[in-house]
Amino acid sequence: MARKVAVIGGGIIGATAAFYLSFLDSNHQLAITLFDDGTGQATKAASGIISPWLSKRRNKRWYALAKDGAAFYSKLVADAQLGSDAYQQTGTIVTRRAKDALEALYQEAQIKVAHTPAMQAVQMLSSQEVAQRLPFLTNPPAGIFVKGGAKIDGAVFIDHLLSRAQQNGVTLKRQRVTFDARGAIETTDGPELFENVIVATGTWMKGTLEPLNYLVKVRPQKGQLIDLTVSEHQRAGLPVLMPESLSDMIPFDGGKLVVGATHENDGGFDLQATSAAEATLLGNAKTFAKRLSANQITGVRVGTRAYTDDFAPFFGHLPNNPNILLGGGLGSSGLTTGPIIGYLLAKSIVDHQLGDWQRYTKSVSQYVI
Ligand SMILES: Cc1cc2nc3c(=O)[nH]c(=O)nc-3n(C[C@H](O)[C@H](O)[C@H](O)COP(=O)(O)OP(=O)(O)OC[C@H]3O[C@@H](n4cnc5c(N)ncnc54)[C@H](O)[C@@H]3O)c2cc1C
Repeated sequence: MARKVAVIGGGIIGATAAFYLSFLDSNHQLAITLFDDGTGQATKAASGIISPWLSKRRNKRWYALAKDGAAFYSKLVADAQLGSDAYQQTGTIVTRRAKDALEALYQEAQIKVAHTPAMQAVQMLSSQEVAQRLPFLTNPPAGIFVKGGAKIDGAVFIDHLLSRAQQNGVTLKRQRVTFDARGAIETTDGPELFENVIVATGTWMKGTLEPLNYLVKVRPQKGQLIDLTVSEHQRAGLPVLMPESLSDMIPFDGGKLVVGATHENDGGFDLQATSAAEATLLGNAKTFAKRLSANQITGVRVGTRAYTDDFAPFFGHLPNNPNILLGGGLGSSGLTTGPIIGYLLAKSIVDHQLGDWQRYTKSVSQYVI
């Protein structure tokens, strides 16, 4: 009899986990079901930047996870045979206003690139060189180009991963589910018991684990971004701009430009797009792209990020229950850290072995009590 495995949540962690459960299960010993509600999903609303190396964050575990997470994309893209509509390694440009800050960052980048193959190469760019690479900019600051930086379209990425998983036999159920007190999953067809469960419900993990009497210490943060159409960058494969203290600008092929994102702690689970956020994001973008105007905005996307008290992601098994695995608290860099978490959780189920993940995460009991 096949071992029954459930994944709850179909964002970047859950979709990657479902894909790898099916991909690694070469002897077809697992019967895998993914439950996803979809509402508020951070992955679909995300800007899409995969470039953690020059972040100002100094948390060592986070950096190890983000660094390996960025490098992990090449394996995932090959294993799932994803195309350039889902993932593109076009490079990222990280800017600093002050000359000495830019010099310091360049030195840091040179040290890191020497032992980080995924960064590929780094190069100092003058303001003119930045404008040459991003033709819709009018007066950009100087910056550092990181060749290995990448971007994904979160919605397309998830759709492709889930269809690969379904081709491999995963059952996808678009519904919100809960645990009952004995650990069965309450589905629309009644309660169902699974031998292993991966819980990847983002900011909603608190509600998911409540019936099992666990308290999950994550809080929601609202994030909004704008999509624009820009005629100046029909050229394919443009790099991402990551300006200091302003909104990131992510050009996609075909003239789509994404500008984001807001970090609204007061917004919580609210999914309403606001004109204030739209105006702020457009204003930020116009700092370096004066020709942009409100009538180029084609849409506003809203999602909910999950934060822990120490802003660190966590994953591992539920305290006192090795059959339920969790991954969450990904905050603002979850597209970067999510896939490797999904892979490690899936692999541990296929291998019947919990991994030693201390270099990436504190114990889950720090976040779930
Ligand atoms: C505006 C914005 C911009 C961002 N930009 C970037 C970026 O550029 N780079 C980067 O690395 N990260 C970025 N992030 C962060 C990243 O998107 C998130 O950290 C990551 O997507 C979280 O993934 P997840 O799988 O944990 O959760 P989610 O993507 O939120 O997925 C959780 C899923 O679980 C479902 N669910 C919840 N409860 C249940 C239930 N009971 N039953 C069934 N389904 C349930 C939800 O509906 C949802 O579909 C951004 C986030 C936002 C909001």
